[in-house]
Amino acid sequence: MSRIEKIEPYIITHQLDTPFYFSQWQYDTRKICIVKITLEDGTYGWGEGYGPAQVIKAGIDFFKPFIIGKKAIEHESIWQEMYLRSLDYARSGVLQAALSAIDVALWDVKGKLLDLPISVLLGGKKNPVIEPYATGLYFERVDDLKGHLVEEALMYKDQGFKAMKMKVGLGIKRDVELVAAIREAIGENVRLMVDSNHAYSYQEAISLSKKLEKYDIGWFEEPVSPEDYNGYKRLRDNTSIPIAGGECEYLTFGFKRLLENECVDIVQPDICACGGLTEAKRIGTLAHTYNKDVVPHTWGTWIAISTAAHFVSNLDKNPGRMYGDLPTMELDRTENALRDEVTTHKLHINDGQLTVPDVPGHGADVDIEKLEVYLDCELTEKQDEFKIRA
Ligand code: MG
Repeated sequence: MSRIEKIEPYIITHQLDTPFYFSQWQYDTRKICIVKITLEDGTYGWGEGYGPAQVIKAGIDFFKPFIIGKKAIEHESIWQEMYLRSLDYARSGVLQAALSAIDVALWDVKGKLLDLPISVLLGGKKNPVIEPYATGLYFERVDDLKGHLVEEALMYKDQGFKAMKMKVGLGIKRDVELVAAIREAIGENVRLMVDSNHAYSYQEAISLSKKLEKYDIGWFEEPVSPEDYNGYKRLRDNTSIPIAGGECEYLTFGFKRLLENECVDIVQPDICACGGLTEAKRIGTLAHTYNKDVVPHTWGTWIAISTAAHFVSNLDKNPGRMYGDLPTMELDRTENALRDEVTTHKLHINDGQLTVPDVPGHGADVDIEKLEVYLDCELTEKQDEFKIRA
């Protein structure tokens, strides 16, 4: 049985043509850590971590000596080794994103070894068709922000998206003004969600929620600080808008806390940070026992997006019914050359619907020539030594 020979993390970076911002800070560059795991027989898989790329790379380097030489197909044993190696220092946080990147790469490897898609490895496609929502509608430094956002929202509608998510967090009055404009523009038949990226106190969040209830909001994502479990619960108890959160939680234990405290209606683990696909499946099962919907947070390249699509295709229907809504997942539409140029994918996306491919692993791959173009050689010594064709 082929063993792991090489684990190669790469940091790729790109200066954005158009910087954008949200409630917390502005994005000028994209920086992502992806990892390639290669076995003795040459089989390889790609994984990705969500979070600060340099720290994720350091985390992957930390785990490396404990994993090299192990049987890739026994990836759950490898997961446990990494978990126990991190437990004393990092029960949550970015070291778990490093673990996640390795775990996703190993699922990709396993799919290739067995010639099966990840959806099948997980147990099969319970949801053959997914209706992704467009993530975008960030803020830009333009004279007419409202007009700019309305134009972007109409573009997603024209592209066939049946749902989209916009940012809030500029202050209650401004948020209401922007939400009202977008709802009016897209009409009542497109779902609209809002995300404040934990911009508000409970008092502010409840005030905003009350003002937004009439705009038929699909969910209010990260309304308050991820530390404010009580604020989440009080908000849920006092607004008719469903509450979503979880992109700042890690491992089953973090999600257990979120669920036990009755914080959310929609659970949003990021597979590339929460503990990988291995842990995401456990989180999905846990959420199911609390009768919650799971809609993973997804960002980054097609590696992350493809992995999330396989995961969503396998999620339990809760509750099941003949004419239920299609499950959704996040499809980031903001500018990202690292996604669109460095990685390739085999997802079928058409008229607002997505299906996962019947190809081995997650189906995403890396264009090696483009990887070289976007490699961040200034940041890491190892990447100065990168000899892609050696
Ligand atoms: Mg979010």
